[in-house]
Amino acid sequence: MCACNGRRLRVDLSKRELKIEEIGEKLLRKYLGGKSLGLYYLLKEMSPGIDPFEPENLLIFSIGATAGVPLPGFSRFSVLGKSPLTGGFGEAEAGGYWGPELKYSGFNIVSITGASHKPVFLWICDGEAELRDATAIWGLKSKEAQEAIRRDVSEPLARVALIGPAGEKLVRYSCIVSDLKFANGRSGLGAVMGSKKLKAVAVRGSRKPEYKNQDKLRELARWFSENWKNHPPAVSRSRFGTAEMVLPLNVDGILPTRNFIKGTFDQAEEISGEAMAKTILLEAEGCYACPIRCKRVVKGRPPFETDPSYGGPEYETIGAFGSLCEVGDLNAISFANQLCNAYGMDTISTGCTIAYAMECYENGILTMRDSDGLDLRFGNAEAMVKMVEMIGERRGIGDLLAEGVRIASKKIKGSERYALHVKGKEIPMHEPRGKTGLALQYAFSASGADHMQAAHDPSFEKSIESIMPLGIHETVNRLSLVPEKVRLFKALHLWWNLLDCLDVCKFAIKPHSVGVFNVNHLVEILNAATGWDTSLYELMVASERALNMSRLLNVREGFTEHDDDLPRRFFEPLGSGPRAGAKISEEEFSKSVKIFYEMMGWNEQGAPTQSKLHELGLSEFI
Ligand code: SF4
Repeated sequence: MCACNGRRLRVDLSKRELKIEEIGEKLLRKYLGGKSLGLYYLLKEMSPGIDPFEPENLLIFSIGATAGVPLPGFSRFSVLGKSPLTGGFGEAEAGGYWGPELKYSGFNIVSITGASHKPVFLWICDGEAELRDATAIWGLKSKEAQEAIRRDVSEPLARVALIGPAGEKLVRYSCIVSDLKFANGRSGLGAVMGSKKLKAVAVRGSRKPEYKNQDKLRELARWFSENWKNHPPAVSRSRFGTAEMVLPLNVDGILPTRNFIKGTFDQAEEISGEAMAKTILLEAEGCYACPIRCKRVVKGRPPFETDPSYGGPEYETIGAFGSLCEVGDLNAISFANQLCNAYGMDTISTGCTIAYAMECYENGILTMRDSDGLDLRFGNAEAMVKMVEMIGERRGIGDLLAEGVRIASKKIKGSERYALHVKGKEIPMHEPRGKTGLALQYAFSASGADHMQAAHDPSFEKSIESIMPLGIHETVNRLSLVPEKVRLFKALHLWWNLLDCLDVCKFAIKPHSVGVFNVNHLVEILNAATGWDTSLYELMVASERALNMSRLLNVREGFTEHDDDLPRRFFEPLGSGPRAGAKISEEEFSKSVKIFYEMMGWNEQGAPTQSKLHELGLSEFI
C-alpha cells in the first residue's frame, strides 16, 4: 500500500452494506485527507437540512495523507458530521493510536450513513470489515465495552473508538473515546454514533504503508530526537503536561474562573501541572511515535479515587471542572475526567455546562428543588462530580443540561446571559479578553467555539520568527483587534487548519511554542512519505479550500454573519485579577469580522463568493 493513495470504507447501517472504494492519488493530493477529505464527502453525499440525529447524517472517520508516518505528531484522526450541538459542521480531532492503526488496516477514511435497528460495532482488520452485534455491550461504560469488544474480535491490541452511555442517550456533547483516554471530544459526534446505534469502530492492521523516501523520514526522526530535549517548552510540556498552563495563565489574569466572570483563581496552585506531578501523577503517556509524552496517567485519592486506565486530566479539563467551577480539588477534577471518559462526554462542554448551572443557582434561577437537592454553589466539588454523573445518565436536571447550554438556556428563563457558547458549542478554557485572537477563533470557527483554530497571540508578542515562512514579519499586540491582528489570525488559522487536514499534532510543530519541527519540515515530510513534489503554497491553498468547504456546509444550513459572534460576557469587563476591566470592543470586533470576510473573499453574510470557489477548485460545489 502506497502512502500517496488510500481506500475508503463506505458503510450503510440501514442496509447493512459495506463497500470499498479507491480514493485515487489526485483526490488525496487535492484534499490531503483528514478534515478536508471528510468535508468533500460531506458536501457531496449529505443532504442539507437533515436533523443531526436522522440516519442520513454522514459520520466520517478520516486520517491525513501522512497518517502513521513514524514521526512525532503524525498520530491524529478526525471525526466529522453534522453536529447536534450547532446544527452545522461538526468536527473533532484526537491523538493516540487509532489513526495510525486505521492506516495499517488498509483504509484512510470510513464513512457511515444510515442507522442500525439494533446495536452494532464495526470491526476493521487488514483490509476487511464487518458489522458485529453489540446488543450485549450497549449500555456499558467505555472500559467494560472496550474489553468486551477486544474479546469478541480475539484481538487484545485492537484500537477501539467507542461511545459510552452518554452517546447512547444522545447527550448533545457526547464524544468518541479511544484507548479510554483519547477523545474526539467536541461537536457531539458521539451522540451521532449513538443515534446510529453504532457502539464502536475497532481497528487492527499490519499493512505498513510504503513510504517513498524512508531514508529522509529516518533522518527527520533523528533530527527530532536530537532537538526536542534542547527545546525547554517541549521538555516542560513533557514534565507537566498541558496542565503546565494553569499557573502562567493565572498569573497573567486569564485563567477562566467562575464561568468567565473572573480571570484568576485563588486555588490555581492546587490544580496546576506542578501540583499534579507532586501528588497523583503515576506516569506520562503519549501518542504514537511521540517522545514528548504530554498525556498524564493519574491515581486520584479517596473519596475521588480514580482508575489509571482512564488517563488523567488535560489543561482544558482542569480549567472546565476546576477554575471555571471554582473547584480546587485535583482529585475531584480527575474523577470528573474519568466519568467523562467512561460515559463518553466532552470535558469542556460538560464543565462549561455545569459552571452555567452553578451561576444560575447562585443567582436564584435554579434552586435545590431543580437540582435534585444538590447545593450547586461554585466551589462545591461533590456537587460538580455528581452533576457529571447526572448528565451522563440524563437523570434529573442532568437531562436538560445534557442538551448543552444553548438549548438549556432557552428553557431556563432568564439564564441566557450565563450560557457561554458560539454557534451552540460551549467555550473552551481560554479568555479572549486577554488574547484577542481567541475572539476571532471562537467567532469564525465553522464548528463553533474552538481554541485550536490558530496559535494564541501571546506567542507572537515578542517573536515572530517561527511564522515568518507564513509571511508574517511584524509582531502584533495581543490586546489589539486591528486589521494586522486579523491578518495574523488568518495566516495562523490557515496553518492550523492545514494541520487538521493532515491530522498532525499542533504541539509537535511550530509556531506552537512547544513545537519542535519547523513549518517547512511539514513539506519535507509529506514529500518523503508520498513522493509528491508539493510546496508550502500548494498546502496552504489546500487548507483554504477546506476552510471554505466548512463554511459552505454551514451556509447551506442557513448560517449567516450573525452566527460569527461572541457571548455578551466577552464584551463586558473581566471581573478580577491583573486584567480586571479588560473587554472586547464591540466596534473593533464587528470591524474585524468585515475585514476577515474581505480577506477571505467572502460576501457580507460570510459566504464564499463564486469567484473564491472557482479560485480554489471548488466549482462543483457552487
Ligand atoms: S505532543 Fe503530546 S499530544 Fe502531541 S503527539 Fe506528542 S504526546 Fe501526543
